[in-house]
Amino acid sequence: MINQAKFIESNTEWKKCPKPTIPEYAFIGRSNVGKSSLINMLTERRALAKISGTPGKTQLINHFLINDSYYYADLPGYGYAKVSKKSREKFNKFTLKYLENRENLMCVFVLLDSRIPPQKIDLEFMEYCGIKQIPFVMCFTKLDKLKEKEAIENISIYKKTMLKSWESLPDIFQTSSKSIVGKQEIIDFIETTNQLFKN
Ligand code: GDP
Repeated sequence: MINQAKFIESNTEWKKCPKPTIPEYAFIGRSNVGKSSLINMLTERRALAKISGTPGKTQLINHFLINDSYYYADLPGYGYAKVSKKSREKFNKFTLKYLENRENLMCVFVLLDSRIPPQKIDLEFMEYCGIKQIPFVMCFTKLDKLKEKEAIENISIYKKTMLKSWESLPDIFQTSSKSIVGKQEIIDFIETTNQLFKN
């Protein structure tokens, strides 16, 4: 159960992030995928991670301390058309540096809009995680916007697409921040994964 969540700081450099003494979980996805909403749902805060009015504006790594025992890292949204190519490249650089160097990173939650077919940028990002051996899970968002049948169909298409290049699938979470779906599953996963952390 999450009962304490507090914002710690924002950074543009992985080296300046909080000391890696406790486990960390990062959240990433295309702008507007529902990342802030998911963090708010998980932490039961209405506006802990600001729900971004301007997609792609939050070009920072934001750290939140949960129950004094682990971090959430809210990573910049990727691939938003309105952000200039230059700032996209800059984002890529520091986010990738963070992902490749953050020693306490236990898992990356790759957020995917359940209404949208597999997108190149998401598939490439997961492939990159595979190559760099960065553990990740797939986290479908906005399930409330779909009928059950459509959700099953879309996720099944996604799995098939993944299996073209992956031998096995990562863990998959299905969430809705609006209807509070998937919360307990994610928290259980985190609490189990926390036990693997070696200081
Ligand atoms: P971010 O840019 O990835 O942080 O996305 P936000 O959390 O700001 O959400 C983008 C938009 O999607 C906002 O208008 C949210 O209200 C909406 N949204 C996010 N999650 C959900 C969800 O689970 N269900 C519904 N119906 N809308 C959502």
